[in-house]
Amino acid sequence: MLNWLRSLPFLVLIGLMAALLGACSTNPATGQSDFTIVSAAEERQIGAEAHPQVVEQFGVYEEFPDLNAYVAIISSRLHSVSEMSNQPFTFSLLDSDMVNAFAIPGGYVYVTRGLMALANSEAELAGVIGHEIGHVIARHGAQRMTQQTLAGLGVAVVGIALQDRNLMNLAGAGAMAWITGYSRSQELASDELGVRYLTRAGYDPFSMASFLEQLERQSQLARQFAFQDNEPDPANSWFATHPRTQDRVVAAAEIASIGLVDPFVGRNTYLRQIDGMVFGDSPAQGFIRGRVFSHPELRLTFEVPDGFRMVNAPTHVTAFNRDGAAIIFDGGAYSGGSMVNYTQTWITELAGRQMALNDLESITINGMEAATGWVRLPLQQGDSEVRLLAIRYGSDTVYRFVFIAPVGQASTLATPFRRTTYSFRQLSGSEAQALKPLRIRIVQVRAGDTITTFANQMQFENLQRERFMVLNGLTSEADLQAGMLVKVVRE
Ligand SMILES: [Zn+2]
Repeated sequence: MLNWLRSLPFLVLIGLMAALLGACSTNPATGQSDFTIVSAAEERQIGAEAHPQVVEQFGVYEEFPDLNAYVAIISSRLHSVSEMSNQPFTFSLLDSDMVNAFAIPGGYVYVTRGLMALANSEAELAGVIGHEIGHVIARHGAQRMTQQTLAGLGVAVVGIALQDRNLMNLAGAGAMAWITGYSRSQELASDELGVRYLTRAGYDPFSMASFLEQLERQSQLARQFAFQDNEPDPANSWFATHPRTQDRVVAAAEIASIGLVDPFVGRNTYLRQIDGMVFGDSPAQGFIRGRVFSHPELRLTFEVPDGFRMVNAPTHVTAFNRDGAAIIFDGGAYSGGSMVNYTQTWITELAGRQMALNDLESITINGMEAATGWVRLPLQQGDSEVRLLAIRYGSDTVYRFVFIAPVGQASTLATPFRRTTYSFRQLSGSEAQALKPLRIRIVQVRAGDTITTFANQMQFENLQRERFMVLNGLTSEADLQAGMLVKVVRE
């Protein structure tokens, strides 16, 4: 969770993009006339205005200047063989753990460190960047590029999350927002352009397809994490709407690879570059360790009950169990009045109509003024008891919990939810200082090492083995070879 104030300008940006209308122009990659959203000059202006907001929202990951330089070199290699090599492009590495890459008009291309963590070679990263350059050059429209792609990143605001658990979980768990928002034909066009730039720049054209497989594995892992192992891809996912794309990408790579001698993959080069890179949440976002969330900058911590898994999103933190119970935590401004009044106003806003809370009472949590009450609501997971808790923190902030228990679990969860309530407290300076992010650590496989050897090194409380295999693109024990480099995640 970021400081909640930082989310606001972004919503304004999305609104601006949505308001833009269409015009006609010529596509430099195909030479054909396209219906696009705005003129090239307008695109550059939109990009120039939006870019600082993207940077403000996510932050640039610049802990290791060598890594930024590395991304810039790969990017400019691809850009220089594109149809817009004479126009300046800006490539940024964003400080976000979401697996994401996107472009905005005017030549601004972004990849996240979350995406870089998932890639296993320089050529795979190059494929992603080539694909995004393709969207810019094919001018796939300012509206879709920005509105949908960017809105997808902050999609699970509390009102939505109450209704749609899938969206809530997947948005936070690193689902691939990177390719949503475009039509299938636009995606194919960008994939094919990406393969074109990869090949021209000397990279292995098949790495685009191998990274798409990585994305699919990551998507399955996200579902497994969200207790949705047996459910199919959600209907809104890219893999559900573009099932044939990998075949097309492979076909394009087969054509591109004819006559290609020794194309560059760069697995070890790449892995050594990302050694030490932050994985998952940064200190500005707060850390999940098992069932505890701690935010060193906002100086707070709390613990969720047994059986709950947590997801940290830019605007909020959610926790959920296998049976549809959930906890949503966020923050907002305090502008005077009692917490009881605050909570009453809040439920009315959430419900969209006047609604009274049951047992609304003032309480004290570790010295902080708070109020709580509950109401029964029909939610997606069934009739549920929804408890609101607002805590006044300092002079200008309110932190809030929404506890959701389907009626069948309400009595079982009453005590665990109460424990979470009273676990909320301020962090001391030394506690905050002791919190360190997780990092990608590159290690060499020795004879006798197994997947279990490395799964045990993964500093997570669940799915260690699955996380290790997905991160390294391994499908079986046989994929692990002595001498190869692999990624593990730990402090
Ligand atoms: Zn795309």
